[in-house]
Amino acid sequence: MDKPKIQIVEDETIVAFDIKRNLESKDYDVVAVVPTGEEAIEAARFFNPDVILMDIMLKGKMDGTEAASIIRDEFDIPIIFLTASTDTLTVDRAKLSIPYGYITKPLVLRELLTTIEITLYRSKIEKLLKEKDLWIRSTVNSIDEAIIAVDEKENIRFMNSRAEQIICENLVNCIGKHLDKVYQTQPDYSNEWLIYAIKDFPENQEDLFKSKLLQTKSRGLIPIEEIISVVTDDKGNILGKSIIFKDLTEKRRAELSAITASNFYISLLEEFPALIWRANEDGYFNYFNKTWLNFTGNLIEDEIYKGWYGNIHPDDRYNFDKDFMENFNSRTRFHTEFRLRGKNKMYRWMYCVGNPFYNLKKEFSGFIGVSVDITERKELETELLNAKQSAESADRAKSLFISNMSHEIRTPLNGIIGLTDLLAETKLDLEQRELLNMSKQSANLLLSLLNNLLDVSKMEFGKEKVVNHQFNLVNAIEEVIDPFIVQASAKKIFVEKDVENITQKKLVGDKAKIQQILNNLLSNALKFTESGTIKLKVFNENGHSTDKSLFHFVVSDTGIGIPENQHQKVFESFTQVDPTSTRKYSGTGLGLAIVKRLVDLLEGKIDLKSKLGEGSEFHVALPLVINNN
Ligand code: ADP
Repeated sequence: MDKPKIQIVEDETIVAFDIKRNLESKDYDVVAVVPTGEEAIEAARFFNPDVILMDIMLKGKMDGTEAASIIRDEFDIPIIFLTASTDTLTVDRAKLSIPYGYITKPLVLRELLTTIEITLYRSKIEKLLKEKDLWIRSTVNSIDEAIIAVDEKENIRFMNSRAEQIICENLVNCIGKHLDKVYQTQPDYSNEWLIYAIKDFPENQEDLFKSKLLQTKSRGLIPIEEIISVVTDDKGNILGKSIIFKDLTEKRRAELSAITASNFYISLLEEFPALIWRANEDGYFNYFNKTWLNFTGNLIEDEIYKGWYGNIHPDDRYNFDKDFMENFNSRTRFHTEFRLRGKNKMYRWMYCVGNPFYNLKKEFSGFIGVSVDITERKELETELLNAKQSAESADRAKSLFISNMSHEIRTPLNGIIGLTDLLAETKLDLEQRELLNMSKQSANLLLSLLNNLLDVSKMEFGKEKVVNHQFNLVNAIEEVIDPFIVQASAKKIFVEKDVENITQKKLVGDKAKIQQILNNLLSNALKFTESGTIKLKVFNENGHSTDKSLFHFVVSDTGIGIPENQHQKVFESFTQVDPTSTRKYSGTGLGLAIVKRLVDLLEGKIDLKSKLGEGSEFHVALPLVINNN
């Protein structure tokens, strides 16, 4: 162990060094010998001695008692006074600085050593006690629990800072006061509802019964939880009791909001206007909401596990099982439809969505499903389907009628045309010939109308089939366009044919349909053009595939044009842009409808670019097979 460090404050040098020598001979370490109070303070700061021997009467401005009190306050070093005087005034003054002892001069060595040893011992014990006290104080002041200790008469002897905060709010000091004055509690009946709310969790109930209400000044009654224990000394003698309590305001608030929240969600599920069910992780149905139970008229006990299943329509059970089991096993969302029997024994159609759900640990916990009544929608669907079917069959009957009629009319009409041809070969005067020509024209017009009608009805029946043959595209185009060149020249209209960019001429496809498309478009172009040009441009794309290519057929004219709002409509059956135009331009409104259907049949596309008075351009694109042989 280190030698104890001693500082001597003595203005009589001889006395001072006598003490130093004596102490050093007894194995003390004399760290400083100083003659004045001021120097004593400096030396204490510098050497931090274990004990200071301090002469009371010192030369200089500061005497020993004054220096001692500064040192004590600042460095907490024990001081032993050396005094020659026995005068009580000096001793009283010395007492103020709480010294550890006095030794009167002349010094007796043994007395000096004894006093030093006692002082060292006392100072060591005091330091330990102080430290222990600091730890106890800091610990009890740091905890959230409030602590009050009372003696046998219930007078408060100790409180930690939490207790002071809660119950001594405006009191300067509670220590010494009777417990009843500051700590007034009453039973907490207010949480009876809480007990009810958590009746399923008995472990929490004890907690609740322990709780009380404590009267506070600023916060009124607050919920607390208290533990009272007897306080005894080391020998087991009862000193009083301790009350440890905890402010539960925050805890109650949290419990309340959790319960309010869960009540909210429970009632939301219960009252939700859809039938809600839940299946656990084994696939057993263990929950049905109030809306479900109201619908089936059953109790939850009747429904859980397999009970509910009896109300599903027998014809829909297989489907439901399949949808449910497949998705339950793969934990995937599903939707299905089934009929569910209500309490009135009537079945209603349900649309049901099932979703897997997971607990907070993200473990699979089952499925939750929502079923809504879609009976009305189902009935409407059936009605619509029936209406559609009867409309379709009426439409079919109409088309069949038209088709039969057309066929029936065509035979005598062909007879008329044949007879007019025969008549034309006979000798006729000019007027007769003109009348005959007119009647032949009318008959031809009627024939083309009938042919169109037959085409449309054939297509409506889906009877029109694609018939593919090998053919030469350029030849096919010429076959179509040549008659137009003759007809157009009569109207002084120029017909332009651009087939330069056809790189593949030998094709496999439905030549007749392609020709019919072009024929219809060209005859419209000619019909609706008074002067200028009609043009047919054909070219093909070099597609990625070697055996199929997209062919473009563009028929344009400089005629009357089509207003933009009619672009869609002209492709519908029996549509003509301007009904008055029928007087000027003959027609049935079937040509473009036929074109559109033929293009669809050949899996192509048709576009129209046109403005009123600025001519028209019909652009048909058809994928065609190239014949490489
Ligand atoms: P229509 O037998 O009346 O020609 P279409 O179905 O072929 O019947 O054409 C429908 C209508 O579209 C025509 O009545 C006409 O108003 C308009 N139409 C078609 N082609 C042209 C064109 N090249 N120029 C101007 N209008 C056209």
